[in-house]
Amino acid sequence: MTTDKITYKVKRSKRKSLGIRIECDGSITVLAPLLASAEYIDEAIAKNKDWILKKQSEKLSAIGERRLQPIYLDEIKALKARALTILPDRLNYYAELLGVSYSKLSVKPMLSRWGSCSAQQSISINCLLMLAPDEVIDYILVHELSHVKHMNHSRAFYAFIDAHFPHRKQCEKWLKSEGVILISRVRLAKDKKDRIN
Ligand SMILES: [Zn+2]
Repeated sequence: MTTDKITYKVKRSKRKSLGIRIECDGSITVLAPLLASAEYIDEAIAKNKDWILKKQSEKLSAIGERRLQPIYLDEIKALKARALTILPDRLNYYAELLGVSYSKLSVKPMLSRWGSCSAQQSISINCLLMLAPDEVIDYILVHELSHVKHMNHSRAFYAFIDAHFPHRKQCEKWLKSEGVILISRVRLAKDKKDRIN
């Protein structure tokens, strides 16, 4: 819904009063009692317009600053070290869950992909993924392990993922928007010696 150029979504629940929440992506959620009318909600939005716009621009500029921060080689090395301590156990956990096995795990920084699985069932994971939410990391692990069963992106492949991991869609969405920005932050490291290639 939109009032005075403020777009928001409404979440109704058994609460007694109206609440306005500015999400970390700058979007607005109105927490409303079950029976609150649309007019009542519109009025509350109009009344709090200044506060909403202020909070919203604070959130958005925080996001903007983070997005423009280059990722340098030192940080990438640290991400790789962290990936090597965290990912093996998680990969084994999901391998067991999916009932598949792989031959080898390698971790490296990549600019064009999040992971891969070779015909020899060797799995490579992009260490930049350590900057993604846990759920997205898990999705990539599940995705690559699923290639052990299906070496393609067929319906059967995605059905196999979905049977074991219910959050695929939102993770793909994250990778398409935030993931692309993350990779572009590596490219922002202008000095060649600070870049991975
Ligand atoms: Zn794939």
